Amino acid sequence: MLALTALAGVLGVIAAPSAASLPSLGPDEHALYGPYAEVWRVPSQRREIALTFDDGPFPFYTPMLLHALDLEHASATFFVVGRSAQEFPELVERIVASGDEIGNHTFNHYHMTRLTNGEIAYQIVAAGQLLERFTGHRLALFRPPFGRYDRRVVYIAHALGYQTIFWSDIPGDTEKDVSPESIAARAVAQATPGGIILLHSGHDATIDAVPIIIARLRSQGYEFVTVGRLLSGPTQADTINRMRSRTPEEPATLPPRKSPKR
Ligand SMILES: [Zn+2]
Repeated sequence: MLALTALAGVLGVIAAPSAASLPSLGPDEHALYGPYAEVWRVPSQRREIALTFDDGPFPFYTPMLLHALDLEHASATFFVVGRSAQEFPELVERIVASGDEIGNHTFNHYHMTRLTNGEIAYQIVAAGQLLERFTGHRLALFRPPFGRYDRRVVYIAHALGYQTIFWSDIPGDTEKDVSPESIAARAVAQATPGGIILLHSGHDATIDAVPIIIARLRSQGYEFVTVGRLLSGPTQADTINRMRSRTPEEPATLPPRKSPKR
């Protein structure tokens, strides 16, 4: 009921999306976040980096991924699909029990840009309600399926209490016949402090690549943290608070939108 009230509130706010209601972005924040305040990476003084796994949970694959992470004592963030969580609740429990983080990847894994405002909000709220029962707290991270987004998607997620999270490091682990070595080499080549690595649940090569990625980046001094931890780092807290406290105000022109696929 509470969530429905929140949904109605959000829909009221976004019924007539106006430029004036969007969060304002200064030039300093453009360096940290995308034009709609979506997160691509979290520049950090520390060599911290986040592994993220989209989709699922899946039988076999999710336990194997968790096992690989446990062996390395590394944390990760899982962007989970609501309907898969409904189908395999015990796998969501295992992610939570392992100390890894859960993000919202919508209920049905549709292209959000093809949906109405109400449908986008429903997809986020329905998955969030389901997943919060496992985590015991509200989720804060959202990743749109297929990386497809526009200003509406990010703004609706924001109004529902979510930060929209993308990536800075794309190892291409869903490519056909890609080897674990190739995935790892690309992940390492694109690594930056505060980076976010996009990987997927449900692929054998990804599971085999994970220990290689972790070993190589640790040898370069990297520590593996969740996205939530990256965002809460001391170097970021001031920036985020400043963004939240800004008076809504539209920049004269929106900068060009980043392509979701790079
Ligand atoms: Zn996905």
